[in-house]
Amino acid sequence: MVKLFIPQLVYIEPRALEYPLGHELKKKFTNMGIEIRQTTSHNQVRNLPGDNHFQQYRIAKSTLVVGVRKTLKFDTSKPSAEYAIPLATGCMGHCHYCYLQTTMGSKPYIRTYVNTEEILEAAHNYMAERAPDITRFEASCTSDIVGIDHLTHSLKRAIEFFGESKYGKLRFVTKFAHVDHLLDAKHNGKTRFRFSMNADYVIKHLEPGTSRLAERVEAAAKVAKAGYPLGFIIAPIYLYDDWQQGYLELFQTLKETLPTYATKDLTFELIQHRFTKPAKRVIEKNYPMTKLEMEEEKRQYKWGRYGIGKYVYKKEEQEDIQTTFGRYIEQYFPEAKLEYFT
Ligand code: SF4
Repeated sequence: MVKLFIPQLVYIEPRALEYPLGHELKKKFTNMGIEIRQTTSHNQVRNLPGDNHFQQYRIAKSTLVVGVRKTLKFDTSKPSAEYAIPLATGCMGHCHYCYLQTTMGSKPYIRTYVNTEEILEAAHNYMAERAPDITRFEASCTSDIVGIDHLTHSLKRAIEFFGESKYGKLRFVTKFAHVDHLLDAKHNGKTRFRFSMNADYVIKHLEPGTSRLAERVEAAAKVAKAGYPLGFIIAPIYLYDDWQQGYLELFQTLKETLPTYATKDLTFELIQHRFTKPAKRVIEKNYPMTKLEMEEEKRQYKWGRYGIGKYVYKKEEQEDIQTTFGRYIEQYFPEAKLEYFT
């Protein structure tokens, strides 16, 4: 079982101490005996312990920076929501394919923002602009927010904030089973709690440092019991030998474990594995022993933004994925909604 995340090293930006959560976290980490360093800005986080890139990368992934979110302009977050709500960035997981390896570049440490109320106020303004249309906010674009929330409770606060809102909805996705503190949050059905699921093979070989399949499924059942609308993102869909059987077993496990009422308002999002050339280089550096297959010749090139194209599966394979998953969803969760395949 993957343990609750406890940082090895904490940095605190001075301005964070102007907020109650900043103080609370400082006290908490001091009591836990964790080394705390001051930093004027997260950009100053240098000289992390470790003799080489490999070690420093791993230490950075268990370093937490407590800071203030300066820009309160939210990014858009298609296709699953209108905006990304920035409660944290970075993640302690070690999924080999993770896009954060390229987006966070040389700063793979985790940052949590203590000015939660200001962030929520910005969300309020975005909702007001679009009202009476509903505005959806995605809280896991730049982190696995559930994995650190047992320390900060910022996500819990956001769930309750959107629970009270008239025109807002929240959604996030996680690979962590540490959901207990979120079960009593007053969500009022406004938060869709999604779990990232995969075939056991993928979780075992490509997702170290995250909760195992059985733990995630068990957590999903708890969340459904707490009345949250539930969703599954199957990502990345990865074609290994025997993938059809592996994903079939995933659907069977979900069906066996979830209470029937949880399957009435259930969503699926399907995302095939993709990589870019720069990502491949970073992955090979961070996880030199990875089993992740990234051979350009076996893939189809798809032009992307900023001239960086991605390698996705070939057309016939994509069709095979869509047919196979369509069949499984129809067979096991006929009432569920397939939101998209990409
Ligand atoms: Fe990346 Fe999500 Fe894995 Fe964290 S859990 S390393 S955010 S893919």
